Amino acid sequence: MQYSKLAEVYESLSKTTKGLEKKTLIANFLKKIKNEPEIIYLLQGRFFPDYDERESGISEQLAIKAIAKATGIKESVVVSEFRKLGDLGKVAELLLAKKKQSSLFSSKLTTQKVLESLRKLPELEGKGTVEKKMNIIIELLHASSPIEAKYIIRTLLNDLKIGLGSGILRDSIAESCFSPKDIEEKRQKANLIQNAYDKATDFAEVFSLALKGEKALSSVSLSPGKPVKVMLYPKAKDIKDAFEIVGKPAAFEYKYDGFRMMINKSDDEKISIFTRRLDNVTKQFQDAVKYVKEHVNAKTFIIDCEAVGYDPKTKKYRPFQDISQRIKRKYDIDKLEKELPIELNVFDVIYYNGESLIDSPFKERRKIIEKIIKPSAFQIRLAEQIITDSDEKAESFYEKALEDGQEGLMAKNLEAIYKPGARIGYAVKIKPNPEEFDLVITGAEYGTGKRAGWLTSFDLSCKTKEGKLLEIGKASTGLKEKPEEGLSFVELTKELKKLIMSEEGKHVQVKPEMVVSIGYQNIQESPSYTSGFALRFPRILRLRPDRDINDIATLDEIKREVKKGRR
Ligand code: AMP
Repeated sequence: MQYSKLAEVYESLSKTTKGLEKKTLIANFLKKIKNEPEIIYLLQGRFFPDYDERESGISEQLAIKAIAKATGIKESVVVSEFRKLGDLGKVAELLLAKKKQSSLFSSKLTTQKVLESLRKLPELEGKGTVEKKMNIIIELLHASSPIEAKYIIRTLLNDLKIGLGSGILRDSIAESCFSPKDIEEKRQKANLIQNAYDKATDFAEVFSLALKGEKALSSVSLSPGKPVKVMLYPKAKDIKDAFEIVGKPAAFEYKYDGFRMMINKSDDEKISIFTRRLDNVTKQFQDAVKYVKEHVNAKTFIIDCEAVGYDPKTKKYRPFQDISQRIKRKYDIDKLEKELPIELNVFDVIYYNGESLIDSPFKERRKIIEKIIKPSAFQIRLAEQIITDSDEKAESFYEKALEDGQEGLMAKNLEAIYKPGARIGYAVKIKPNPEEFDLVITGAEYGTGKRAGWLTSFDLSCKTKEGKLLEIGKASTGLKEKPEEGLSFVELTKELKKLIMSEEGKHVQVKPEMVVSIGYQNIQESPSYTSGFALRFPRILRLRPDRDINDIATLDEIKREVKKGRR
């Protein structure tokens, strides 16, 4: 397909904020790409499936240089236009229009060519990489019309600005492939697509299967080595509430305070580890690789577990924030492994020796982990568990968990299947102090006086069920002045600067990527924020590099807390 056709769709999508119009536009477009489903990646602003984390690695600086070279316009001019427009895509469009006005230009760029070129970028390594990357971009820009250039640059910078979330894409695929007649059928087909996506994490694959029909769609299976969305757990108020949700008897397990790891062993014996945001962290956790190699007896598997940090000297468990740096660290990995060791607490398995287990009841899955894992203290073990129908026994187990320094309990329905990506009541979490939410930072403000140059106030957002972000407050406490004292303004500023989309005076708008845990005193209704609520006395507790916007609190959860507060 001509890339210009896709650019037209991008343009139309960016001109409407209405979900319904977007769905119709995409559903119609999908009908034209039945033979080229990979164009969906470009529609998402990507060039690989969602489970594949390879990125272009193009910085704004490099994009500026490439635009200057491709148009023959001075870099300083590109930079000053960037300051004015706040979007390098628009800058490329403007400058290319100036350059190409005189010559009769007809674009021959195809989506195939764009995909091929973009896919070369992450492969480039070593000497001369920057030069080679630049040449690829320049070649694309030379072949582009101004509008095409805008979207090439935006794709490279991972910010397409067309307001297309995965919910809209899912509904559009349902619409395009099944033309559902009423709301009920729409919901049902969208669910089918979602279920398939949660296993495949690849919209092009899901689209191809949906074209073949419902049966093909429900045949998506897991394959170790390819990350799957984890199942998520809603909150229960207390033990009684937990029993009401998951039924009696139930399994109660320690809720460990670490971070989620899906550990895979594929046919070729390769171990790979993914976080809940599907980041591949295998390199950072060679200790975990060793533990599963030595202590999990199975040819292939996907196990779900919580990695918990402990002090190497005292052997005391440490809270998540102490080990969170291991997730992103790319250097000194060995040293960090010794300083911040982890123990794996395995609580589920969804694939074992060639078979998917997601449709097996939890009690069967638990039996399998009991069979295949040889526990070894401070390396790998099974989540501490009891099965009971007694409130008293569950209560005393809860107290024991808290005494042991864990976060609380999980209560699990013994018969429930595993539902990737879903937050349904097959299992629930019970924590004593729920005055805490995970939220995403969507903006920030520079400080003054001795804090000048640092971002010191942070706009926080929750989301609707459909994934729309809504502001719910601003936090400026909880951070330290000096990096050696803990999470500091310096560190947060450094990370957020990479995400800045636009600046106005002292305020910056940032890409919604950084998830933080926020403590607060209570929640009030408030017209000042788009959510209609404001957190009172919010403070930043910790960064959550293992989470993304899919994991943040929803407006419904906030409303539930508000209601509880009133009781
Ligand atoms: P939260 O992070 O508060 O949403 O709680 C859910 C998380 O608790 C899961 O995503 C896991 O990372 C973690 N967790 C700790 N222990 C368990 C357990 N025994 N079963 C399931 N999840 C657990």
